[in-house]
Amino acid sequence: MMLYIHVPFCRSKCRYCAFFSEPLGNGGGERIRSYLDGLLAELVRRGTESRGEPVTSVFFGGGTPSLLSALDLSSLLESIGRHFALTEDAEISIEGNPESLLRPGFMKDLAVAGFNRLSVGVQSLDEGMLRMLGRIHSAEDAVRTLDAARSAGFENVSVDLMWGLPGQTLKGWLGQIDAAAALEPSHISAYGLTLEPGTPLAEAEARGHISLPPEEILAAMYLEGAARMEALGFRHYEISNFARPGCMCRHNCGYWKGEEYLGLGPAAVSTRKGVRWANPPGLEAWLEVARGRARPEREELDQRRLEEERLMLGLRTADGAAMCGEAWELPQVKAFLHELESSGLALISAGRLRLTAKGMLLSNEVLATLMDLIFP
Ligand code: SF4
Repeated sequence: MMLYIHVPFCRSKCRYCAFFSEPLGNGGGERIRSYLDGLLAELVRRGTESRGEPVTSVFFGGGTPSLLSALDLSSLLESIGRHFALTEDAEISIEGNPESLLRPGFMKDLAVAGFNRLSVGVQSLDEGMLRMLGRIHSAEDAVRTLDAARSAGFENVSVDLMWGLPGQTLKGWLGQIDAAAALEPSHISAYGLTLEPGTPLAEAEARGHISLPPEEILAAMYLEGAARMEALGFRHYEISNFARPGCMCRHNCGYWKGEEYLGLGPAAVSTRKGVRWANPPGLEAWLEVARGRARPEREELDQRRLEEERLMLGLRTADGAAMCGEAWELPQVKAFLHELESSGLALISAGRLRLTAKGMLLSNEVLATLMDLIFP
């Protein structure tokens, strides 16, 4: 089983972000205290229910988990170790942003507490792009964060980058990849910007103040960006993820393989023993659930749903999806697979269907057709 802890706070809201997170500015002490109390209650209750089942990875995501103090994060990890059966070699990841990761001694304290993977929200190493995105750190902060992470003892450090930004050129994006790789991360997550309704960037676009690069440039950014990262020694192992050998994110790989996970904190989702449930997003509503006074909504996942998800998630990855079941022998499915192979969108070998980088670029369209054919 894997454990996910959602930390729902950020210092301020980025201009593109539609995730549930509460901007706290430099305050929010009381909100954080209530959250930590609730989290401990939820953790103890769920830990007892897990009855010693081994936990192979823990992921603190958000929001901005690095907004919490090192002391609070250490004692949360200690409580997890007390109430869950963490395996010896468990991957323990935390997401953070440069402005809070750079607090003196912070990353060193995290390493001492047992965190062994750090995911840094760099997004861009271009000052103008950072301002446009509403990030509150500088490119120089990001560079210092990577240096300090290494000095603190982190060997497994991932950076998040964004591409397809307003005003960004193909050359500019490839330059960003080179600049990020020069910081020697072990992993890069590269996400294309989407303008989510209601965000300040989407409004700026609606008013004509900004525009995304044209479709053909976006396609080139994805394909040439993936090729550049491969050439730099990062394996393209999932649609948006690239890793040095042995440095794939074990936690996220678990999601894509359909492993069971328990999510704690506001808005966290869990999938265990054929049942999925999601905690409510608001702090107050979640506190009721965390303290066992309310129950989250549950959904039973039947066999068909599990198979659909296995196909969708498998095709996100370089390992692809197993082609098992009679539906794969249907003439219309075979014809579509042939079309995918002959147009260079997919490869079939050893009973698995794998999308190429070109296929990953069109994964939504490919999947929509395949799902209709396999699960009519
Ligand atoms: S730091 Fe991350 S979660 Fe927080 S507002 Fe920015 S993008 Fe959203």
